[in-house]
Amino acid sequence: MKTIDIVVPCYNEEEVLPLFVKETNEVIDTIPDYSFRYIFVDDGSKDKTLQVLKTLASRFPNVKYISFSRNFGKESAMYAGLKNCDADYVIVMDADLQHPPKMFPKMIEGIEEGNDCCALYRAKQTGESKIRQFVSKIFFSFQNNISDVKMPEGAVDYRIMSRKMVNAIMELSEVQRFSKGIFCWVGFKTKWVEYENVERTVGTTKWNLWGLFKYALDGITAFSVTPLRVIAVMGFVISLLAFIYIIVTLIQTLCFGIDVPGYVTTLCATLFMGGIVELSIGILGEYVGRIYMETKHRPIYIAQETNLDEENDLI
Ligand code: UDP
Ligand code: MG
Repeated sequence: MKTIDIVVPCYNEEEVLPLFVKETNEVIDTIPDYSFRYIFVDDGSKDKTLQVLKTLASRFPNVKYISFSRNFGKESAMYAGLKNCDADYVIVMDADLQHPPKMFPKMIEGIEEGNDCCALYRAKQTGESKIRQFVSKIFFSFQNNISDVKMPEGAVDYRIMSRKMVNAIMELSEVQRFSKGIFCWVGFKTKWVEYENVERTVGTTKWNLWGLFKYALDGITAFSVTPLRVIAVMGFVISLLAFIYIIVTLIQTLCFGIDVPGYVTTLCATLFMGGIVELSIGILGEYVGRIYMETKHRPIYIAQETNLDEENDLI
């Protein structure tokens, strides 16, 4: 019998977890040909998530958990889950039931067709704020246009992957992880399946607009150096224009003398150039910051408790 591990990052999900396991178990019961195991990753929750997980683990032997020493973020939680799983297939999904378990049969069918991955994307972002939809749209078009990873608009972190693919993902050891990109970057045959977006009914989203913006920026800088090229090209174009302007001004001055003091021109040029320089340093800084964080080689997460077998090393 093939085994499937379900990796679920959880941050303050005490309310939804019992419901999540109940609903997922109902789906699992309809798929008797596979043996399922949950790997919940408690990402330093401030509520009773860990206690709830322990209660669930005592009721269901296939419920495993890893608990972090603090909140490391969803990316780290997903990494910890993937690192500690050993099944033939691995499903990654959210705890909040926004990734409906009823898609399992379709996903398994997708991977059994000879693919290494069956991933989901949502066609419509119903139930999400207009601003969030807008940020998401910009992100996907940016990401697909300037980096080497391509993904359909609305791609989410809900997917099933083969062991081969999970092993490849583990080879990427970067600390600042952007899984959406990593999943695409490793390649392998992926089947994309559309699903209907579900609104979160229990608990609240952990994202705010600033968080989403940072996430989008991480995604872009992690998989592309195009912004650096853009500033180089911008510098070249501005220098060229400045050179032409200097020649014109020189000729004008030599032929006709100095007419006006040029106060506005000087002011505009200074402010404009100031802005461009700041922007360029900012973009450069983003990359330098990333290099700085990577060179520290800090662990991606620190676990403090687990009910996984002892032989599974934790980090
Ligand atoms: N999550 C996490 N660590 C965090 C934030 C979120 O493990 O720091 C988990 C969360 O418990 C959920 C998933 O990541 O299972 C997605 O989070 P959320 O539903 O808040 O995001 P959204 O669906 O709004 O994108
Ligand atoms: Mg959610």
